[in-house]
Amino acid sequence: MVILVLIVLGLCLGSFAGATVWRLHQQALPAKKRVASVKDLSITTGRSMCPHCQHTLGVGDLLPLVSWLMLRGRCRYCKQSIGWQEPLMEAGTAVLFVLSYLFWPFAFDGRGLFLLGCWLLAVVGLVALLVYDLRWMLLPNKIVFPLIGLGVVQAVVVCIFFDGGISYALNAAAAVIVAGGIFWLLFQVSDGKWIGGGDVKLGYALGLFLARPSLAFLMLFTASILGVVAALPGLVAKKVTATSRIPFGPFLIVATIVVMLFGQSIVDWYANFVLQLP
Ligand SMILES: [Zn+2]
Repeated sequence: MVILVLIVLGLCLGSFAGATVWRLHQQALPAKKRVASVKDLSITTGRSMCPHCQHTLGVGDLLPLVSWLMLRGRCRYCKQSIGWQEPLMEAGTAVLFVLSYLFWPFAFDGRGLFLLGCWLLAVVGLVALLVYDLRWMLLPNKIVFPLIGLGVVQAVVVCIFFDGGISYALNAAAAVIVAGGIFWLLFQVSDGKWIGGGDVKLGYALGLFLARPSLAFLMLFTASILGVVAALPGLVAKKVTATSRIPFGPFLIVATIVVMLFGQSIVDWYANFVLQLP
């Protein structure tokens, strides 16, 4: 039952993430290239529309995934293809919601449930950032800042209302310094050539949710490995060189989700592994 609710919730919020990505990108375009007015593209008040014919979508078209499957990926009105991005985001968010519940590292008490709620909201923002960065190599402040705000609120609430809150907040602050601080240094040293300012701000947000310096380190380590593995085919084919721009955000985001859910298991496994070495 819980899983069913999480799937539906994930589909709906994934659909919201998809709409947000499209609207933010439209807002960033010069006025001539936009398909609708800035008011209609507002994230909070704008109505959902077909990106091709601008037909406002009815309630029946807004059922995530279901309407996409029924219409076989085409707009009901102009029959143009809507593409894979939105349904993938919807399904992906739903899958992440279920995985987060199944592998949740904390107890399901008040504190754990509060953290889970914040984390699920964060996942929605992270999915939107991942897709935006993959497509346009940019981490929009309009998604990163709310994430940082959510992380700060989470730390403050845990600090005030739950046992052990002070140590939680201190650990979260240390994690922010690890995840964001290293990027901030790299950014300053390289004058923004090695990594973008968006990665620095994303680092702060990710640190707030990982909330432990050891997990923040593990996240950076995992993201680096993912980045190297993903860049290897390109390096071998000489399509990617040292000066190529590769968006780093998606690796950070995937690493954060993995470390958030499996970090402790990875640390335990590694500790066992090292102890068993001769
Ligand atoms: Zn259409």
